[in-house]
Amino acid sequence: MPTLKEMLNEQVREGARELFEKIDERNRVRCYSCGHCCPIPDGQAGVCKVRFNRGGTLYVPWGYVGGVQCDPIEKKPFFHAHPGALAYSFGMLGCDLHCSYCQNWVTSQALRDADAVSPPLAASAETLVRDARRQGARVLVSTYNEPLITSEWAVEIFKHAREAGLMTGFVSNGNGTPQVLNYIRPWIDLYKVDLKSFDDRHYRQLGGRIQPILDTIRALHGMGFWLEIVTLVIAGFNDSDDELQRAAEFLAGISPDIPWHLTAFHQDYKMTDPANTTPEMLMRAAEIGKHAGLRYVYAGNLPGKVGDLENTRCHNCHELLIERYGYLITGYHLTANGCCPKCGASIPGRWGRAFEGQITSHPFLPRGRGLIAIN
Ligand code: SF4
Repeated sequence: MPTLKEMLNEQVREGARELFEKIDERNRVRCYSCGHCCPIPDGQAGVCKVRFNRGGTLYVPWGYVGGVQCDPIEKKPFFHAHPGALAYSFGMLGCDLHCSYCQNWVTSQALRDADAVSPPLAASAETLVRDARRQGARVLVSTYNEPLITSEWAVEIFKHAREAGLMTGFVSNGNGTPQVLNYIRPWIDLYKVDLKSFDDRHYRQLGGRIQPILDTIRALHGMGFWLEIVTLVIAGFNDSDDELQRAAEFLAGISPDIPWHLTAFHQDYKMTDPANTTPEMLMRAAEIGKHAGLRYVYAGNLPGKVGDLENTRCHNCHELLIERYGYLITGYHLTANGCCPKCGASIPGRWGRAFEGQITSHPFLPRGRGLIAIN
């Protein structure tokens, strides 16, 4: 029986030329697919464990998924992109960070944590797109692990998705580089960044640095991706007024129109000490965000307990525009051209001409999709 590492080492192809270069005569390469920019000796893998150097060429994941799920787009979360749409979501294996509270650790920490066992499923881009359409998806999303580290495979799938008329998205930690953002830009519409903290020391605990993430957020907005930001609020880790305020001021300084989702932590994986986040904590954080000038601040993971913070209101006249309960859309009042029906203000986002209904407000596994476990 091959090991997971042996299986994944077969599911590869050469990395995109834009995303690595040879840096010396000993065949070392440097990878630019994430902010680590790993120098990788011949025969070794990068920090993510899934991109490796063989003979001076970088090999990268290809032709499989770690899992597939149909999610409401609100779960990603995107609140300003086709509310109610079904987001056909696929994950790969591996990550460039190692967050102790990861809710997707079984796939993200594969190859790093012996308890994270998730068999890869063979998939082609055509199969995934065909299945996404069959399930009624409007959007195809790379998520559950860090999509930047598997950008080549995501771009291959997204080229087919575009041909089929689907939108595309990344749900990412934002640890990018200019090279990888340029590489993915033509093929991605929506981008969510998980801004985990506003303190470099905290990022180093998770295996990263804050600066590449801040640079990526700024670049994503400047390059015209539709960008939403999430911060999982964790007591004692990132919830001080000072830290939340600096994060909010940073985002508002880029654009007050960037939606900021403040979501509730629950104990998971190796982080079982902090208490679960309360509605009061999210509401306090939301006040800080609004006070900093952000126009669209949301509280998530606690349906029905955070007052008006699940809804979208016009930034100009406060008219109620989109009503939500958890992932369920309960009211939609935008005009056909994405404006407030009362004052006419243009609402930032990617809107359809009308609400197109909602297939589900709960995640479900697609059936009969023909993916098979690799072994
Ligand atoms: S994706 Fe990031 S962690 Fe993986 S090899 Fe490239 S630079 Fe290193």
